Amino acid sequence: MPESALRAGVVDYVIPLDRMGGVLLDLIARSGPVLQKSVIPDDLIMEASIAERVVGTTQEINQVGRQVPLSCPDCGGALWEMQQGAVLRYRCHTGHAFTADSLLDSSHHALEETLWVALRMMEERKNLYTSMASRGEGSWSVQQEERIEEIKVHINRLREFLINGKDPNGTTTAHVH
Ligand SMILES: [Zn+2]
Repeated sequence: MPESALRAGVVDYVIPLDRMGGVLLDLIARSGPVLQKSVIPDDLIMEASIAERVVGTTQEINQVGRQVPLSCPDCGGALWEMQQGAVLRYRCHTGHAFTADSLLDSSHHALEETLWVALRMMEERKNLYTSMASRGEGSWSVQQEERIEEIKVHINRLREFLINGKDPNGTTTAHVH
């Protein structure tokens, strides 16, 4: 979040944590009357109440943002893009909030989790075929052995991708049958 704000150029101070209290007190002392006079925008009030899970109907969220064809990585619900401010932000109706960057990180994490599950399932399948092949005979057993080899290729490719982030053959379109 702080990095997103920095990139968006909406930052007034970059200071270490131990100086923050002093600077805040100084700012309040200097701009007290201005702060008291300032009015909190309606969309911010609405968004804060979504964050506090007070408001949750789609109609109400439509007032502060527009629904986009993305789903919340935390709950799977629809996401709204918030129109106010320089930073691109997203919210679901249950109150999960993301910047574009954190949304990318979250969806990457979810994808990785799915791939690990796929890897585990393939390994279980390979083990099952191995048990079947060891009990079978003749051509049927050969068929199981072929399946095992095929699964091994996919397992290795997935594992390589998950660990190193790339296909062992340097391609992403290779297909094994
Ligand atoms: Zn959510």
